[in-house]
Amino acid sequence: DMTSEPFDYAAAIRTIPDYPAKGVMFRDITTLLGNPRAFRRTIDELVQPWAGAKIDKVAGIEARGFIIGGAVAHQLSAGFVPIRKKGKLPFETIGMDYALEYGQDRIEIHVDAVEKGERVILVDDLIATGGTAEAAIKLLHETGVKVEAACFIVDLPALGGADKLRALGVAVRTLVA
Ligand code: AMP
Repeated sequence: DMTSEPFDYAAAIRTIPDYPAKGVMFRDITTLLGNPRAFRRTIDELVQPWAGAKIDKVAGIEARGFIIGGAVAHQLSAGFVPIRKKGKLPFETIGMDYALEYGQDRIEIHVDAVEKGERVILVDDLIATGGTAEAAIKLLHETGVKVEAACFIVDLPALGGADKLRALGVAVRTLVA
């Protein structure tokens, strides 16, 4: 099983200092996505705890969560559900507002994207403060599904996001800090 050998995720991810604003170390996963071995390894390792589990849906957060989430859904033979910024989905939606550093934002899903009782895994590329993922989990909980876990390639542990999600009773899986 290839995921039992160590893999250097940090080396596969590019860091851009001061993007998009001064003081931010932007973790750019496009280098990992473009590396065939790294991309496969990432998906294989992310889904490992749920191999053979009956996961109904994988929910991905716009936009990089769509790339990871689509591959994860395929690997688990689950459906894929996009969680989008407000106003982007064409059918009837339900939404959740969340606080940003300055002001607020809103994420939405289609009202018929999930059904009560379904088992869902949430996916994004990176967890920082956890504000976005927390809003996504609250939105999914409102629909009556069980969020089995939230999966990210990168964790920024100093910002406490993973602990925020665990406080909501959601398992958190990350591959590199
Ligand atoms: P947060 O809601 O604070 O957990 O922010 C998470 C979202 O912002 C994710 O969708 C990330 O893609 C993006 N993000 C936040 N910080 C960074 C960073 N340092 N590098 C790359 N993406 C980031």
